Amino acid sequence: MTTQPLTLQPRRRGAPPQHLADLDMAARKDAVTGLGLPAFRARQLSHHYFGRQLSDVDAMSDLPAADRERIGGVLFPPLLTPVTQVSCDDGATRKTVWRLHDGSLVESVLMGYSDRTTVCVSSQAGCGMACPFCATGQAGLTRNLSTAEIVDQVVSAARTSREAGLGRLSNVVFMGMGEPLANYERVLRALRRLTDPAPDGLGMSQRSITVSTVGLVPAVRRLTAEELSVTLAVSLHAPDDELRDELVPVNNRWKVDEVLDAAWEYASRTGRRVSIEYAMIRDVNDQPWRADLLGRLLAGKLAHVNLIPLNPTPGSRWDASPKAVEREFVRRLRAAGVPTTVRDTRGSEIDGACGQLAATQEKAAATHGQAEVAE
Ligand code: SAH
Repeated sequence: MTTQPLTLQPRRRGAPPQHLADLDMAARKDAVTGLGLPAFRARQLSHHYFGRQLSDVDAMSDLPAADRERIGGVLFPPLLTPVTQVSCDDGATRKTVWRLHDGSLVESVLMGYSDRTTVCVSSQAGCGMACPFCATGQAGLTRNLSTAEIVDQVVSAARTSREAGLGRLSNVVFMGMGEPLANYERVLRALRRLTDPAPDGLGMSQRSITVSTVGLVPAVRRLTAEELSVTLAVSLHAPDDELRDELVPVNNRWKVDEVLDAAWEYASRTGRRVSIEYAMIRDVNDQPWRADLLGRLLAGKLAHVNLIPLNPTPGSRWDASPKAVEREFVRRLRAAGVPTTVRDTRGSEIDGACGQLAATQEKAAATHGQAEVAE
Protein backbone atom coordinates (compact mmCIF):
# COMPACT_ATOMS: atom_id res chain seq x y z
CA MET A 1 0.00 0.00 0.00
CA THR A 2 1.47 3.33 -1.01
CA THR A 3 0.97 6.55 0.85
CA GLN A 4 1.65 9.21 -1.73
CA PRO A 5 -0.33 12.35 -1.04
CA LEU A 6 -3.57 12.73 -2.88
CA THR A 7 -3.95 16.05 -4.61
CA LEU A 8 -7.16 17.55 -3.42
CA GLN A 9 -8.89 20.44 -5.03
CA PRO A 10 -8.75 23.55 -2.86
CA ARG A 11 -11.51 23.71 -0.28
CA ARG A 12 -14.40 25.89 -1.31
CA ARG A 13 -16.60 27.53 1.24
CA GLY A 14 -20.34 27.84 1.18
CA ALA A 15 -23.27 25.51 0.79
CA PRO A 16 -23.23 22.75 -1.82
CA PRO A 17 -24.76 23.88 -5.12
CA GLN A 18 -28.49 23.32 -5.48
CA HIS A 19 -29.43 20.25 -7.51
CA LEU A 20 -32.67 18.82 -8.89
CA ALA A 21 -32.73 16.30 -6.03
CA ASP A 22 -32.93 19.13 -3.47
CA LEU A 23 -36.24 20.25 -4.96
CA ASP A 24 -39.76 18.90 -4.92
CA MET A 25 -41.67 18.83 -8.21
CA ALA A 26 -43.20 22.29 -7.71
CA ALA A 27 -39.77 23.82 -7.10
CA ARG A 28 -38.34 21.96 -10.10
CA LYS A 29 -41.07 23.52 -12.24
CA ASP A 30 -40.17 26.95 -10.85
CA ALA A 31 -36.52 26.29 -11.66
CA VAL A 32 -37.18 25.35 -15.29
CA THR A 33 -39.67 28.15 -15.90
CA GLY A 34 -37.10 30.50 -14.34
CA LEU A 35 -34.80 29.42 -17.18
CA GLY A 36 -37.51 30.36 -19.67
CA LEU A 37 -38.36 26.70 -20.37
CA PRO A 38 -41.79 25.07 -20.34
CA ALA A 39 -42.85 23.50 -17.02
CA PHE A 40 -43.16 20.00 -18.53
CA ARG A 41 -39.36 19.84 -18.67
CA ALA A 42 -39.38 19.35 -14.88
CA ARG A 43 -41.01 15.93 -15.22
CA GLN A 44 -38.82 15.04 -18.14
CA LEU A 45 -35.62 15.89 -16.24
CA SER A 46 -36.89 14.07 -13.17
CA HIS A 47 -37.50 11.00 -15.27
CA HIS A 48 -33.95 11.13 -16.61
CA TYR A 49 -32.45 11.55 -13.14
CA PHE A 50 -34.57 9.22 -11.00
CA GLY A 51 -35.82 6.81 -13.66
CA ARG A 52 -32.68 6.40 -15.75
CA GLN A 53 -30.10 7.63 -13.22
CA LEU A 54 -28.69 10.11 -15.72
CA SER A 55 -27.05 13.38 -14.68
CA ASP A 56 -25.31 14.18 -17.94
CA VAL A 57 -27.53 16.54 -19.93
CA ASP A 58 -25.81 15.56 -23.16
CA ALA A 59 -27.20 12.06 -22.73
CA MET A 60 -30.74 13.47 -22.45
CA SER A 61 -31.44 13.40 -26.14
CA ASP A 62 -34.96 14.77 -25.90
CA LEU A 63 -33.68 18.12 -24.58
CA PRO A 64 -33.03 20.88 -27.09
CA ALA A 65 -29.26 21.02 -27.51
CA ALA A 66 -29.27 24.79 -27.01
CA ASP A 67 -30.81 24.45 -23.50
CA ARG A 68 -28.67 21.64 -22.17
CA GLU A 69 -25.81 23.65 -20.76
CA ARG A 70 -28.09 26.01 -18.83
CA ILE A 71 -30.15 23.12 -17.47
CA GLY A 72 -27.01 21.24 -16.47
CA GLY A 73 -25.62 24.27 -14.68
CA VAL A 74 -28.79 24.95 -12.70
CA LEU A 75 -30.12 21.45 -11.97
CA PHE A 76 -27.25 18.99 -12.35
CA PRO A 77 -24.11 20.57 -10.87
CA PRO A 78 -21.59 17.80 -10.08
CA LEU A 79 -22.00 17.01 -6.38
CA LEU A 80 -20.06 13.79 -5.89
CA THR A 81 -16.77 13.11 -7.63
CA PRO A 82 -15.45 9.58 -7.18
CA VAL A 83 -11.97 9.58 -5.66
CA THR A 84 -11.52 5.84 -5.22
CA GLN A 85 -13.63 2.80 -5.87
CA VAL A 86 -12.63 -0.50 -4.33
CA SER A 87 -14.43 -3.78 -4.45
CA CYS A 88 -14.31 -7.25 -2.95
CA ASP A 89 -16.52 -10.37 -2.85
CA ASP A 90 -16.11 -10.68 -6.63
CA GLY A 91 -17.56 -7.23 -7.15
CA ALA A 92 -20.60 -7.80 -4.94
CA THR A 93 -19.29 -5.26 -2.39
CA ARG A 94 -18.11 -1.89 -3.66
CA LYS A 95 -16.98 1.08 -1.64
CA THR A 96 -16.75 4.53 -3.18
CA VAL A 97 -14.97 7.51 -1.62
CA TRP A 98 -16.57 10.70 -2.93
CA ARG A 99 -15.18 14.20 -2.94
CA LEU A 100 -17.77 16.93 -2.37
CA HIS A 101 -17.67 20.42 -3.86
CA ASP A 102 -15.72 21.81 -0.90
CA GLY A 103 -13.15 19.01 -0.78
CA SER A 104 -14.84 17.05 2.04
CA LEU A 105 -14.73 13.28 1.56
CA VAL A 106 -17.54 10.83 2.29
CA GLU A 107 -18.06 7.15 1.56
CA SER A 108 -20.84 4.87 0.47
CA VAL A 109 -20.88 1.08 0.16
CA LEU A 110 -22.95 -1.00 -2.26
CA MET A 111 -23.62 -4.61 -1.24
CA GLY A 112 -25.22 -7.18 -3.51
CA TYR A 113 -26.86 -10.18 -1.80
CA SER A 114 -28.80 -13.05 -3.31
CA ASP A 115 -32.16 -11.54 -2.36
CA ARG A 116 -31.46 -7.80 -2.25
CA THR A 117 -29.00 -5.04 -3.06
CA THR A 118 -28.30 -2.49 -0.37
CA VAL A 119 -26.45 0.79 -0.33
CA CYS A 120 -25.04 2.19 2.91
CA VAL A 121 -24.97 5.99 2.64
CA SER A 122 -23.44 8.87 4.57
CA SER A 123 -25.58 11.70 5.93
CA GLN A 124 -22.78 13.93 7.19
CA ALA A 125 -19.11 14.52 6.39
CA GLY A 126 -17.63 13.19 9.63
CA CYS A 127 -19.76 12.79 12.75
CA GLY A 128 -20.15 14.73 15.97
CA MET A 129 -21.30 11.84 18.17
CA ALA A 130 -17.77 10.79 19.22
CA CYS A 131 -18.43 7.09 19.84
CA PRO A 132 -14.93 5.89 20.80
CA PHE A 133 -15.04 2.61 18.83
CA CYS A 134 -16.11 4.21 15.53
CA ALA A 135 -13.57 5.50 13.02
CA THR A 136 -15.85 8.27 11.77
CA GLY A 137 -16.53 9.40 15.33
CA GLN A 138 -12.83 9.95 15.94
CA ALA A 139 -12.51 12.61 13.27
CA GLY A 140 -15.36 14.86 14.40
CA LEU A 141 -17.99 16.59 12.32
CA THR A 142 -17.10 18.54 9.18
CA ARG A 143 -20.60 19.39 7.97
CA ASN A 144 -24.09 18.18 7.14
CA LEU A 145 -24.65 16.79 3.65
CA SER A 146 -27.33 18.44 1.53
CA THR A 147 -30.42 16.47 0.53
CA ALA A 148 -29.07 16.07 -3.00
CA GLU A 149 -25.64 14.93 -1.75
CA ILE A 150 -27.43 12.13 0.11
CA VAL A 151 -29.85 11.27 -2.71
CA ASP A 152 -27.09 11.28 -5.32
CA GLN A 153 -25.23 8.55 -3.40
CA VAL A 154 -28.34 6.38 -3.78
CA VAL A 155 -28.96 7.29 -7.42
CA SER A 156 -25.30 6.52 -8.23
CA ALA A 157 -25.60 3.20 -6.41
CA ALA A 158 -28.77 2.37 -8.35
CA ARG A 159 -26.91 3.04 -11.60
CA THR A 160 -23.86 1.02 -10.55
CA SER A 161 -26.03 -1.83 -9.33
CA ARG A 162 -27.79 -2.02 -12.69
CA GLU A 163 -24.60 -1.68 -14.72
CA ALA A 164 -22.66 -4.18 -12.60
CA GLY A 165 -25.38 -6.82 -12.86
CA LEU A 166 -26.28 -6.66 -9.15
CA GLY A 167 -29.93 -6.13 -10.02
CA ARG A 168 -32.26 -3.39 -8.90
CA LEU A 169 -31.16 -1.45 -5.84
CA SER A 170 -33.68 -2.50 -3.21
CA ASN A 171 -32.51 -1.17 0.17
CA VAL A 172 -30.88 1.90 1.67
CA VAL A 173 -29.30 2.04 5.13
CA PHE A 174 -28.24 5.31 6.72
CA MET A 175 -25.28 3.60 8.37
CA GLY A 176 -22.40 5.32 6.61
CA MET A 177 -20.70 8.39 7.99
CA GLY A 178 -22.67 10.72 10.21
CA GLU A 179 -25.67 10.80 12.51
CA PRO A 180 -28.72 11.08 10.25
CA LEU A 181 -31.02 12.51 12.91
CA ALA A 182 -28.51 15.32 13.60
CA ASN A 183 -29.13 16.41 9.98
CA TYR A 184 -32.86 15.97 10.33
CA GLU A 185 -34.43 18.26 7.71
CA ARG A 186 -32.13 17.24 4.89
CA VAL A 187 -32.34 13.55 5.71
CA LEU A 188 -36.13 13.75 5.84
CA ARG A 189 -36.26 15.44 2.45
CA ALA A 190 -33.90 12.73 1.16
CA LEU A 191 -36.31 10.06 2.48
CA ARG A 192 -39.11 11.75 0.53
CA ARG A 193 -37.06 11.84 -2.67
CA LEU A 194 -36.12 8.17 -2.30
CA THR A 195 -39.67 7.02 -1.68
CA ASP A 196 -41.77 9.39 -3.79
CA PRO A 197 -43.12 7.54 -6.83
CA ALA A 198 -41.42 8.20 -10.16
CA PRO A 199 -40.83 10.66 -11.68
CA ASP A 200 -40.89 12.78 -8.48
CA GLY A 201 -38.48 10.39 -6.78
CA LEU A 202 -36.88 6.96 -6.91
CA GLY A 203 -40.04 5.13 -5.86
CA MET A 204 -38.36 2.89 -3.26
CA SER A 205 -40.51 1.38 -0.53
CA GLN A 206 -40.26 3.08 2.86
CA ARG A 207 -39.87 -0.29 4.52
CA SER A 208 -36.69 -0.95 2.62
CA ILE A 209 -34.97 2.09 4.12
CA THR A 210 -33.29 2.00 7.53
CA VAL A 211 -32.37 5.11 9.50
CA SER A 212 -29.80 4.33 12.19
CA THR A 213 -29.35 6.64 15.16
CA VAL A 214 -27.39 6.94 18.39
CA GLY A 215 -30.75 7.83 19.95
CA LEU A 216 -31.35 11.57 19.72
CA VAL A 217 -34.64 11.32 21.58
CA PRO A 218 -36.39 14.53 20.41
CA ALA A 219 -35.49 13.71 16.79
CA VAL A 220 -36.74 10.12 17.17
CA ARG A 221 -40.04 11.54 18.46
CA ARG A 222 -40.18 13.95 15.56
CA LEU A 223 -39.57 11.12 13.11
CA THR A 224 -42.36 9.14 14.80
CA ALA A 225 -44.76 12.00 14.15
CA GLU A 226 -43.94 11.95 10.42
CA GLU A 227 -45.75 8.58 10.23
CA LEU A 228 -43.34 7.11 7.73
CA SER A 229 -42.76 3.40 7.68
CA VAL A 230 -38.99 3.47 7.42
CA THR A 231 -37.12 1.07 9.70
CA LEU A 232 -35.57 2.67 12.77
CA ALA A 233 -32.28 1.25 14.04
CA VAL A 234 -31.03 2.32 17.46
CA SER A 235 -27.32 1.96 18.23
CA LEU A 236 -27.59 0.76 21.83
CA HIS A 237 -24.29 -1.09 22.37
CA ALA A 238 -24.87 -1.37 26.14
CA PRO A 239 -27.97 -2.09 28.23
CA ASP A 240 -26.76 -0.06 31.23
CA ASP A 241 -26.15 3.68 31.49
CA GLU A 242 -22.75 3.35 33.11
CA LEU A 243 -21.21 1.64 30.08
CA ARG A 244 -23.37 3.37 27.46
CA ASP A 245 -22.26 6.77 28.78
CA GLU A 246 -18.79 5.76 27.61
CA LEU A 247 -19.58 3.89 24.38
CA VAL A 248 -22.23 6.27 23.05
CA PRO A 249 -21.47 9.62 24.69
CA VAL A 250 -24.87 11.11 23.79
CA ASN A 251 -26.17 8.74 26.50
CA ASN A 252 -25.01 11.38 28.97
CA ARG A 253 -27.91 13.46 27.63
CA TRP A 254 -30.57 10.79 26.93
CA LYS A 255 -30.42 7.62 28.99
CA VAL A 256 -31.07 4.02 27.92
CA ASP A 257 -34.66 4.02 29.22
CA GLU A 258 -35.52 7.29 27.46
CA VAL A 259 -34.02 6.09 24.17
CA LEU A 260 -35.88 2.79 24.38
CA ASP A 261 -39.16 4.51 25.32
CA ALA A 262 -38.85 6.66 22.19
CA ALA A 263 -38.08 3.53 20.15
CA TRP A 264 -41.17 1.69 21.47
CA GLU A 265 -43.30 4.71 20.68
CA TYR A 266 -41.90 4.59 17.12
CA ALA A 267 -42.68 0.88 16.90
CA SER A 268 -46.23 1.26 18.13
CA ARG A 269 -47.05 4.24 15.91
CA THR A 270 -45.54 2.71 12.74
CA GLY A 271 -46.01 -1.00 13.41
CA ARG A 272 -42.37 -1.41 12.39
CA ARG A 273 -40.00 -3.61 14.36
CA VAL A 274 -37.10 -1.53 15.70
CA SER A 275 -33.61 -2.84 15.10
CA ILE A 276 -31.31 -2.65 18.13
CA GLU A 277 -27.68 -2.44 17.04
CA TYR A 278 -25.09 -3.87 19.41
CA ALA A 279 -21.38 -3.96 18.50
CA MET A 280 -19.80 -6.92 20.30
CA ILE A 281 -16.65 -5.64 22.02
CA ARG A 282 -14.45 -8.19 23.78
CA ASP A 283 -14.64 -7.95 27.59
CA VAL A 284 -16.37 -4.57 27.34
CA ASN A 285 -20.07 -5.17 26.64
CA ASP A 286 -20.23 -8.92 25.90
CA GLN A 287 -20.71 -10.40 29.40
CA PRO A 288 -23.55 -12.91 29.95
CA TRP A 289 -25.15 -10.61 32.54
CA ARG A 290 -25.36 -7.83 29.96
CA ALA A 291 -27.05 -10.22 27.51
CA ASP A 292 -29.58 -11.07 30.23
CA LEU A 293 -30.16 -7.42 31.10
CA LEU A 294 -30.61 -6.57 27.39
CA GLY A 295 -33.01 -9.51 27.08
CA ARG A 296 -35.09 -8.16 29.97
CA LEU A 297 -35.22 -4.68 28.43
CA LEU A 298 -36.33 -5.98 25.04
CA ALA A 299 -38.50 -9.01 25.85
CA GLY A 300 -42.03 -8.62 24.53
CA LYS A 301 -41.18 -5.50 22.55
CA LEU A 302 -41.38 -5.03 18.78
CA ALA A 303 -37.63 -5.32 18.49
CA HIS A 304 -34.90 -7.31 16.89
CA VAL A 305 -31.23 -7.33 17.90
CA ASN A 306 -28.51 -7.00 15.32
CA LEU A 307 -25.15 -7.91 16.81
CA ILE A 308 -22.22 -6.41 14.91
CA PRO A 309 -18.81 -8.02 15.45
CA LEU A 310 -16.63 -5.01 16.29
CA ASN A 311 -14.44 -3.86 13.44
CA PRO A 312 -11.39 -2.71 15.34
CA THR A 313 -10.35 0.76 14.21
CA PRO A 314 -6.67 1.63 13.86
CA GLY A 315 -5.07 2.39 17.21
CA SER A 316 -8.12 1.24 19.15
CA ARG A 317 -7.65 -0.71 22.38
CA TRP A 318 -10.79 -2.71 21.60
CA ASP A 319 -11.32 -5.94 19.73
CA ALA A 320 -14.23 -8.12 18.58
CA SER A 321 -15.67 -10.66 20.99
CA PRO A 322 -14.58 -14.27 20.52
CA LYS A 323 -17.13 -16.32 18.55
CA ALA A 324 -17.97 -18.52 21.56
CA VAL A 325 -18.81 -15.43 23.63
CA GLU A 326 -20.89 -14.07 20.76
CA ARG A 327 -22.78 -17.38 20.48
CA GLU A 328 -23.56 -17.36 24.20
CA PHE A 329 -24.80 -13.77 23.95
CA VAL A 330 -27.10 -14.74 21.07
CA ARG A 331 -28.31 -17.81 22.97
CA ARG A 332 -29.25 -15.77 26.05
CA LEU A 333 -31.09 -13.13 24.03
CA ARG A 334 -33.03 -15.77 22.12
CA ALA A 335 -33.82 -17.58 25.35
CA ALA A 336 -35.35 -14.32 26.56
CA GLY A 337 -37.54 -14.38 23.45
CA VAL A 338 -35.68 -11.63 21.58
CA PRO A 339 -35.09 -12.24 17.85
CA THR A 340 -31.35 -11.87 17.30
CA THR A 341 -29.08 -11.99 14.28
CA VAL A 342 -25.37 -11.42 13.79
CA ARG A 343 -24.48 -8.96 11.04
CA ASP A 344 -22.05 -10.11 8.41
CA THR A 345 -18.92 -8.03 8.15
CA ARG A 346 -19.19 -7.35 4.45
CA GLY A 347 -16.53 -5.02 3.15
CA SER A 348 -14.15 -5.25 6.11
CA GLU A 349 -11.19 -6.00 3.85
CA ILE A 350 -11.78 -2.78 1.91
CA ASP A 351 -12.40 -0.76 5.09
CA GLY A 352 -16.01 -0.61 4.05
CA ALA A 353 -17.60 -2.31 7.03
CA CYS A 354 -19.51 -0.70 9.88
CA GLY A 355 -17.52 1.89 11.71
CA GLN A 356 -14.57 1.81 9.37
CA LEU A 357 -15.69 4.65 7.16
CA ALA A 358 -13.22 7.43 7.79
CA ALA A 359 -12.61 9.30 4.60
CA THR A 360 -9.88 11.53 5.83
CA GLN A 361 -7.41 12.87 3.32
CA GLU A 362 -4.75 10.53 4.68
CA LYS A 363 -6.98 7.52 4.42
CA ALA A 364 -8.00 8.27 0.86
CA ALA A 365 -4.34 8.83 -0.02
CA ALA A 366 -3.43 5.50 1.52
CA THR A 367 -5.95 3.58 -0.56
CA HIS A 368 -5.16 5.60 -3.65
CA GLY A 369 -2.21 3.46 -4.66
CA GLN A 370 -4.05 0.16 -4.60
CA ALA A 371 -7.48 1.21 -5.74
CA GLU A 372 -8.96 1.57 -9.12
CA VAL A 373 -8.97 5.35 -9.47
CA ALA A 374 -12.16 6.46 -11.06
CA GLU A 375 -11.27 9.89 -12.31
N1 SAH B 1 -24.77 7.53 13.60
C1 SAH B 1 -25.58 6.38 13.26
C2 SAH B 1 -25.04 5.62 12.06
C3 SAH B 1 -23.69 5.10 12.35
S1 SAH B 1 -23.01 3.68 11.60
C4 SAH B 1 -25.64 5.44 14.45
O1 SAH B 1 -24.83 5.57 15.34
O2 SAH B 1 -26.51 4.58 14.47
C5 SAH B 1 -24.04 2.32 11.83
C6 SAH B 1 -23.68 1.36 12.96
O3 SAH B 1 -22.32 0.93 12.95
C7 SAH B 1 -23.94 1.99 14.31
O4 SAH B 1 -24.65 1.06 15.08
C8 SAH B 1 -22.55 2.15 14.83
O5 SAH B 1 -22.51 2.24 16.23
C9 SAH B 1 -21.86 0.92 14.30
N2 SAH B 1 -20.41 0.98 14.38
C10 SAH B 1 -19.62 2.08 14.40
N3 SAH B 1 -18.32 1.74 14.52
C11 SAH B 1 -18.29 0.39 14.56
C12 SAH B 1 -17.22 -0.55 14.64
N4 SAH B 1 -15.96 -0.15 14.70
N5 SAH B 1 -17.55 -1.86 14.64
C13 SAH B 1 -18.83 -2.25 14.55
N6 SAH B 1 -19.87 -1.41 14.46
C14 SAH B 1 -19.60 -0.10 14.47
